[in-house]
Amino acid sequence: TTFVVHCAFFDTPIGTGVLVSFEDVTHVEQAGQMRRDFVANVSHELRTPLTALLGFIETLRGPARNDEAARDRFLGIMAAEAERMERLVKDLLSLSRVESEERMRPTARVDLSELTASVLNRLDPLASSAHVALRRDLPATPVVVPGDEDQLRQVLTNLIENAIKYGGAGGEVSVTLTRSDMTGALRGPGASIVVADKGPGIDLVHLPRLTERFYRVDSHRSREMGGTGLGLAIVKHIVNRHRGRLRIDSEPGEGSRFSVILPSL
Ligand code: ADP
Repeated sequence: TTFVVHCAFFDTPIGTGVLVSFEDVTHVEQAGQMRRDFVANVSHELRTPLTALLGFIETLRGPARNDEAARDRFLGIMAAEAERMERLVKDLLSLSRVESEERMRPTARVDLSELTASVLNRLDPLASSAHVALRRDLPATPVVVPGDEDQLRQVLTNLIENAIKYGGAGGEVSVTLTRSDMTGALRGPGASIVVADKGPGIDLVHLPRLTERFYRVDSHRSREMGGTGLGLAIVKHIVNRHRGRLRIDSEPGEGSRFSVILPSL
């Protein structure tokens, strides 16, 4: 806890004295620290590919100047590093947009049955190249939620891509959409989307931090998979913006389940 101490001395005809007050600025301090951590993380994430790019440029200008085979190989690596930077910048922009829009509730009507089917079709090639069976259980009739279609598409894409990338070893990813009422303060009709995999699962200690920006269970593996560490942070903000809930359950060795429940019409 951090306090700021304010002192005022007074000397008036009625009397003299000192007024001391304490202000709890813990939250301000924490916000400042989070901002500093974020900037440090972004700088680090950008610097790594940038250093690689500069190194390869130097090599191409010098020792590898006339080596055609090396040139092709280096250009391939440079393209991959530049794509990593591009993904990071794209995710940072998405995150900043959804964070700033969080107070504005989306109002368009989105059919989650159709949207989920379309995302699944688009991810079919990724699943088959990873030897993952992508199972689906979607209602034949529309499940309509007030929402922002692009953002909800991003939620589905991030969760299903993660299940394939990190849980694909289990050979199977299932996506289930059902009508399911919201409980608690937001009681009312709802829609539930569950993305489940049979992969290695996530250790309990990581679960509470998984939606933090740049939090990864295994940084090396995430980078290798082309991850930016921002996917679940974006998911969380979009779900919040839609007044929904995100729940993560995992049984190490058995797999993980990411459930999103959204208010529906
Ligand atoms: P990344 O860009 O690293 O994929 P995310 O924010 O999408 O970032 O995910 C954060 C971390 O959560 C990942 O690095 C991974 O360690 C873990 N994770 C996400 N989904 C799963 C899953 N289905 N199974 C196991 N681990 C997962």
